[in-house]
Amino acid sequence: MAVFVLDKQKRPLMPCTEKRARLLLERGRAVVVRLAPFTIRLKDRIGGALQPLRLKLDPGSKTTGLALVRESEIVDAETGAVERLEHGLWFGELEHRGQQIREALTLRRHYRRTRRSRKTRYRAPRFLNRTRRDGWLPPSLQHRLDTTVNWVQRLRRLAPITGLSQELVRFDTQALQNPEISGVEYQQGELAGYEVREYLLEKWHRSCAYCGATHVPLEIEHIVPRSSGGSDRVSNLTLACQPCNQRKGSRSIEDFLQRQPARLHQIQAQAQAPLKDAAAVNATRWALLNALKATGLPVETGSGGRTKFNRTRLNLPKTHALDAACVGAVDHVRDWNRPILSIRATGRGAYSRTRTFKNGFPRGYLMRHKRVHGFQTGDWVHAEVPKGKKAGVHVGRVAVRQTGSFNIQAQAGTVQGISYRHCRVLQRADGYGYSFQPKPDTEEARRAA
Ligand SMILES: [Zn+2]
Repeated sequence: MAVFVLDKQKRPLMPCTEKRARLLLERGRAVVVRLAPFTIRLKDRIGGALQPLRLKLDPGSKTTGLALVRESEIVDAETGAVERLEHGLWFGELEHRGQQIREALTLRRHYRRTRRSRKTRYRAPRFLNRTRRDGWLPPSLQHRLDTTVNWVQRLRRLAPITGLSQELVRFDTQALQNPEISGVEYQQGELAGYEVREYLLEKWHRSCAYCGATHVPLEIEHIVPRSSGGSDRVSNLTLACQPCNQRKGSRSIEDFLQRQPARLHQIQAQAQAPLKDAAAVNATRWALLNALKATGLPVETGSGGRTKFNRTRLNLPKTHALDAACVGAVDHVRDWNRPILSIRATGRGAYSRTRTFKNGFPRGYLMRHKRVHGFQTGDWVHAEVPKGKKAGVHVGRVAVRQTGSFNIQAQAGTVQGISYRHCRVLQRADGYGYSFQPKPDTEEARRAA
């Protein structure tokens, strides 16, 4: 894994190898700035030669892949064709916590709901009195956007990045805010017919809903026929092969599938279920693109299909980080077999000061202050316990307690009851937890996958 290098004035230089960083540190020419991502600062150097670096992103609903690559070109001497070559420098995977945020907000909503029904005071009508600004995203998706942009900015402070690449679309639902509620007729211009089609292909897994046929031409089919008052809403649309479409004609689905109750039930359920993950990713991807453009760096975009094509052609294992490396126009990738830094969004503690049992009764209260003896939950600490049952060295994320007896989440497991006296901060809490994944192309990693 490449080591990030800053100059004397904390401006980014080209990342160097681990070996070179070790030599610089041994000779006292550099100091450690951060442990994750590992960064050193040179004490005697201002400025240096830079080469083009590209940060590539593959935004996902749960994990975003990050790949920092050095770009160069290979020119074919005979044909003069130029091929894009990438050298992998640093790979990361950013794990989002959208689901946790969603759950926390649902919980809060329930608390408030019960509180209102306990206290029966008068409340003014609250019907249709809320507005949302343009470009509003649900908090869980806003978080995904914010953390991704945050890491782009962090990496820009550590490396002289000259370009960005982002996987933008699997299918274009740019204007698709909530396809299951808004009718197609409302989306003309924003969501043209082919986008409905791409959406349906994704939703119905590219197969005929009635017979399951794949790799055949599929037609858009109204579940409740239009002649019986069926709407053009996406939730009333499915895909059928031509023979099935013909046979169904304008019959109702109950009639058509009366001998297959299981399939009937499955189609009706799936029709109502919105395509959550894909829709969510698409809404945030465009917001992310706008945020990336705002950095002032040139942004290259690619589609999911192209990423997959590149990964298959280059014969790379499937990881989020390597997917990121395959975004956009790439002809060759070198030095891709490197360990991956796992970055887990952990948040910075809870707003609520009361801890509850699962039925909502209070179980205990959190401290008013986050800091205990100079430590805070989330700090990365090194604890050296001289004697006793827990004797030894423990390194990991600390969870503080007011008593000064801390828990440390080490790689091997959580160690409880470590006194603050034995602890030393390695890196301050920054809202993320770090761990390393082995190289993607080893026996060990293959077994784990
Ligand atoms: Zn069919």
